[in-house]
Amino acid sequence: MSHLVKNYNRRKIAFKRGKGSYLYSTNGKKYLDFVQGIAVNSFGHSNPYLSKAINKQTKKVWHVSNAFIIPEGEKLAKRLTQKTFADYVLFQNSGAEATEAAIKAARRYFYAIGKPNKNRILCIKNSFHGRTLGAIFASGSKKMTEGFGPKVPGFDHFKFGDHNGLKKAITKNTAAIMCETAMGESGIKVIPEWCLKGLRKICNKRKILLILDEVQCGVGRSGKFFAFDYAKIKPDIVPIAKGIGGGFPLGAVLMNKKVASTLTAGSHGSTFGGNPLAMSVGNAVMDLIFKKGFLKNVQKISKYFMVELKKIKEDYPEIIKEVRGIGLLLGLQLHGDQTKFIKELEKNKLLTIKAGENVIRILPPLNVRKQEIDLAIKIIRNTCNQESNL
Ligand SMILES: *Cc1c(COP(=O)(O)O)cnc(C)c1O
Repeated sequence: MSHLVKNYNRRKIAFKRGKGSYLYSTNGKKYLDFVQGIAVNSFGHSNPYLSKAINKQTKKVWHVSNAFIIPEGEKLAKRLTQKTFADYVLFQNSGAEATEAAIKAARRYFYAIGKPNKNRILCIKNSFHGRTLGAIFASGSKKMTEGFGPKVPGFDHFKFGDHNGLKKAITKNTAAIMCETAMGESGIKVIPEWCLKGLRKICNKRKILLILDEVQCGVGRSGKFFAFDYAKIKPDIVPIAKGIGGGFPLGAVLMNKKVASTLTAGSHGSTFGGNPLAMSVGNAVMDLIFKKGFLKNVQKISKYFMVELKKIKEDYPEIIKEVRGIGLLLGLQLHGDQTKFIKELEKNKLLTIKAGENVIRILPPLNVRKQEIDLAIKIIRNTCNQESNL
């Protein structure tokens, strides 16, 4: 009997080891893993370069308090700011913590400039920002908030794509708009470039902050370091997590100078955030992401994957309704419930995971090989064939 709380619907499968895009189960089966811990293992399982980096650090120093200078963190923060819009970085341990800190930073900014009533955060209804109390009420999803009241105040919502609703929802008390550049959990819905530009304009005009949650779509997953880089805009605050640790828990909030300047000593903190072990892996992930041509290759291979998935959709329109995504954050929307199809893919040795709106999420490691994508395509095609013959 398992003594773990039953808050997960776990599949009856466990793994003894992983290598790159593959996982080996305890009962001797080999799976192509296109879940990768939900977009966490940017470089697949047990990547030798990342292993070496963390191993090296374990022999030096694992953890010290943020009461001291952490050179590995100084280095990672510097690199993150050199490569992005950000001037400053705040390290956390997870996505939810990073989005919470992003919300805190936005509120603190208006407090510090003498506008404490500007404290409401405007979010997309049924988005996903994590599972802390603040984050679930930011998401505004009934399923996630059920039984966890009283409601955390301070969040307003608009519907994805509802531009008028968005404009109307901004009040004199709005501090920031917060949304995922590409919505992951809720069904791989990508905010188009022109809308991102529009969001930036609205925020400028109304003098509010723009928070883009790139916890899932950031750190190279989209084919650029940030998914919003395609739109050539600069948000004010960006929480990241999943991909930056390559499998080690690590979150961060990137922000511009005006926001960062209001987070003075003692205003926020984390015991584990930015510890040397996490920083060593973060730095190693940055080494790999910014290797010459790497992101270009993510763009190239994801384009190929997308085209092949669309061909399957053309051949099986009665099963697949839509192919969605950006970079290697891909989704197959089925006409009906996707649970059974995911199970069939698993039987055929391809691991994928569910998202909202009947979507099957496909998340290969960023260094996936073409032959592995070809194998996934073959398995998805066979599974469609199998299903349509039923
Ligand atoms: C996963 C996710 C989070 C929460 O991250 P955790 O590490 O699970 O707390 C927040 N925002 C987005 C967009 C995510 O995909």
